Amino acid sequence: MPGTRVLSLLLLTIALVAGPAAPPLGAWGASAHMLLTTAAVDHLQGPLGTFFKANRNFLICYSILPDGWWGSPEMLPQLPKGLENPAGPNGPKEIGRHHFAEDADPYVEAKPPRQELGVSPMDRAAALQVFKLYVDKHGQEALTRFGNENHWFHGGLAELPAAMLEKAGELPWVIDERLDDMARALREGQWSRALFMATVLAHYAGDAHVPLHTTVNFNGQFCPNPLIKGLHQRWEGRAIELNKAEVRSFLAQQVRVAPASPALPSDPAALRAALFQQIAETYQMTDDIIRVDDELLKDRQPGRGDDQAAYSPEYYRKFYERLGSGIKDQLRKAVETVDGLWTIAWERAGRPQLPPGSVETPPLVVIDYHNGRIVPFDPTHGP
Ligand SMILES: [Zn+2]
Repeated sequence: MPGTRVLSLLLLTIALVAGPAAPPLGAWGASAHMLLTTAAVDHLQGPLGTFFKANRNFLICYSILPDGWWGSPEMLPQLPKGLENPAGPNGPKEIGRHHFAEDADPYVEAKPPRQELGVSPMDRAAALQVFKLYVDKHGQEALTRFGNENHWFHGGLAELPAAMLEKAGELPWVIDERLDDMARALREGQWSRALFMATVLAHYAGDAHVPLHTTVNFNGQFCPNPLIKGLHQRWEGRAIELNKAEVRSFLAQQVRVAPASPALPSDPAALRAALFQQIAETYQMTDDIIRVDDELLKDRQPGRGDDQAAYSPEYYRKFYERLGSGIKDQLRKAVETVDGLWTIAWERAGRPQLPPGSVETPPLVVIDYHNGRIVPFDPTHGP
């Protein structure tokens, strides 16, 4: 399956290029994004479900593009027109749009005493205020620490709060913004644009369900056991790749039994609270995942220059045995969230009548990062 191999290489390349000091990798691996988007399309009921099924391949294909916006900005000019990042700048600016660190120091310090779960729902301006208060309190010490951890940063105290906020992540607000974009496109009858915003929204909503995208310890890099580092890609990528058929059939099963009505509220404030709550719940999984990985890797010795030897087929078998149900459950929740958000966008647009059949969209291509070129997407290979 050349298409699939290309996509695996893509993620591997990102992982290698990103290196040890790099920001989080692109959330769910390519397979997972495509699997969850497929299930979300297949599950979706009503007129929007009919419209999306008629444009299924487009939605599946471009659910992985947002990782290209940060992972390979130099390839983007080669893409067909109409696939530009609605948020603006790509490259490093895009990275923070895929995660949200619940345990970033400013949030932890700002949390009211006895508040059990998660960062309080807030908008970007309020979040910036949280980071400003932190910088006011810690001053030069905060600046030095941030500068040491982020060599790209050359600003002073005035620039620090915004830089720290960007690094901690902007995922909940990006979901909000792409939802607005999708609703606007539907309201204006821009069907191709609406489909593109829908698949982009599915990407970010999916990212919100990856535990290692909700913590500063996003790659297990702060764990005492050095072998844990790289956990990010093992949980969201490799473990799913190795069990793809089982994951696919699990999601297909869920599509049949899941309730038709989405659990998310449509009211903007309530929706924001629900998204923050989801991210907080996702974060709750991280300790367990790290603990299990530590147990699995305890007896392993880092090889000389080849730590990958620790991650044997036997390791992955046990990894999936212990963590697979959590992975599948997060994928199932992601499917429900995506369907909920898509439905809300259509409702906010005034439930417009949708065109029958497929509409004209940009050609279906994927970035082959490994060979530095754009290749056609082959839908017959599936995710
Ligand atoms: Zn992502």
